[in-house]
Amino acid sequence: MARPTKASIDLAAFRHNYRVAKTQSPSSQAVAIIKANAYGHGAIELAHALPEADAFGVACIEEAIELRESGIKQPILLLEGFFEESELELIRQYDFWTAIHNPEHIDALERQPVSSKISVWLKLDSGMHRLGFTPQTYPAAFQRLSALPQVNHIVHMTHFACADELEKSMTHAQLQVCDATFANLDAHACSFANSAATLAHSASHIEHHGGYTRPGIMLYGADPLSAPNSASQQLIPVMTLSSKIIAIRDVPAGDAIGYGERYRCSHNMRIGTVAIGYADGYPRHAQDGTPVLVDGIRTSLVGRVSMDMLTVDLTHIPDAHIGSSVELWGKTIKADEVARYCDTIAYTLFTGITRRVHKEYIEG
Ligand SMILES: *Cc1c(COP(=O)(O)O)cnc(C)c1O
Repeated sequence: MARPTKASIDLAAFRHNYRVAKTQSPSSQAVAIIKANAYGHGAIELAHALPEADAFGVACIEEAIELRESGIKQPILLLEGFFEESELELIRQYDFWTAIHNPEHIDALERQPVSSKISVWLKLDSGMHRLGFTPQTYPAAFQRLSALPQVNHIVHMTHFACADELEKSMTHAQLQVCDATFANLDAHACSFANSAATLAHSASHIEHHGGYTRPGIMLYGADPLSAPNSASQQLIPVMTLSSKIIAIRDVPAGDAIGYGERYRCSHNMRIGTVAIGYADGYPRHAQDGTPVLVDGIRTSLVGRVSMDMLTVDLTHIPDAHIGSSVELWGKTIKADEVARYCDTIAYTLFTGITRRVHKEYIEG
């Protein structure tokens, strides 16, 4: 590995964050959400690093099979259910749990051999309007599933649209829809809470809502809440994205740096070139001023991000040299902070890391 661009993944931090999720809701099981290759962190490695996980959640059967084939024994939930009827055979074979979010899913289950016993998570659209049965159609769907010999357990499931925004009343409204809809439908368990709700909406998982939480982003140490919160303060960032300085130059006042002359030097500056760019997943739309850490000292991005490189201000870091270490995000500069300078969220930063970035797994 000659090019120094890498993502270090702290497995101890990942386990710690999972324990935070469990502590938030001690009577619930926690489905560790590791879809999209564990939000870019490496699903197989992370799943094996968390033997205590109650279950894992993924977006599709390809992701689920990869985990099972790698030796993962815990239940694996398909969060969006199946996309084709032919997957049901595999769901049975590999013993996956599947979401059921439309009538076609139930039709397909009905056509399965009665010897199959599949655990299903019946999804209610409690207001997000993306997936699930409406409150009007949910009870009939539940009754239909309950009567099917092909169905094992049924879990009531919903998803929140605004759990990250504590000032909004939407989560409360969605919970009321859930309470009203599920009142007389006796299911195996309930599952409502994503990371934000796990940390900030205890009514969605404690009390009579015990069952399964579904923490995702919090497991990777990013803050799921839009405003600082004591619960999310306990999280430890899992990914450190780093590289090195590969060139340094002095640039006179008035000259510009990089493509499009986006950044013009207001004074004589010392500029470092770093071996990471948008083809590694560092966002091209990062603004001038986006924080970067060089040899442990905070500085900022200057100029447009290129495909393989970016440029940073070293004027106030005289000891910086070729080979100096550069942290793009990690435990000091949080991905959440970088995301704000890029008009995005930590989710897209993590999932955007490309294959070219070497991943290294460490313990703390
Ligand atoms: C991705 C996902 C989650 C996890 O969401 P986070 O915001 O990352 O915690 C939970 N439930 C469902 C249905 C999801 O698709």
